[in-house]
Amino acid sequence: MTTPQLQQRLLAHLRELARPRHALWDRLGLMSVRSTIREQLGALGEVEEHPFREGSEAGTNLILRLPGQNPQRAPLLVAAHYDGPFNSIGADDNASGVAALLELAQRWALDPPTRPVWIVAFDQEEWGMLGRRALARELRAAGQPLRLMVSLEMLAYTSAEQAYPIPAMRRIYGRWAAMCAPRCCRCSMAAGACPMCA
Ligand SMILES: [Zn+2]
Repeated sequence: MTTPQLQQRLLAHLRELARPRHALWDRLGLMSVRSTIREQLGALGEVEEHPFREGSEAGTNLILRLPGQNPQRAPLLVAAHYDGPFNSIGADDNASGVAALLELAQRWALDPPTRPVWIVAFDQEEWGMLGRRALARELRAAGQPLRLMVSLEMLAYTSAEQAYPIPAMRRIYGRWAAMCAPRCCRCSMAAGACPMCA
C-alpha cells in the first residue's frame, strides 16, 4: 500500500468515527461507533466483546486476538479508546488513535508478526480509564503475561503550536512526537522501540 492510499484509508476511518460519542451524553453515537469498530475488526477475526462494570459505570471493550507466527509467545497489546470527549466530535481524541488501530490490525492480520498481537478498543476511558482498568485487573488475576502495552492516543495533531489542557502533557506528547521520527520499516513504530522487530 502506498502512503497516499494509507492516508486515504485513515481519513475514511476518521470521517466515520469522528462524531459525538461521549459515554453519558451521546450513547447512540457511542453504540454506533462501537458497532463500526466491531464490524471492521470482525472482518479480520473473532472479536470478543468484553463487558465490564466499574462502580455505577458500565462499558464494552472490543478485543481481537491475532495469533502471530508464534502463538505461545507473550502478546503485544495495542489499544485505543473509542469513547469520546464531552461536547466534541473527538477527531483527535481519539478517532485518530482508533483509525490507526484499525489499520494496524489490518496490516498484522495480512502479514502476521512474530508474536501475537491483541488489538483492543477500550470503552469508558475519558472519565477514569475504566475500560483498561477492568481488563488489566482480569489479565492480572488470570496471570496473563504481556510483552508490552501500547496506547494509541491523539495521533492526529502534534506540533509546536498544539495547545494542551494541562501544560505537563507537552512533556509527554511532545517527546512522543519527536520519538516518531525514525520509524520501524515493519510497523511504523519508532525505530528501536518496536518489540515486534526486537
Ligand atoms: Zn483520549
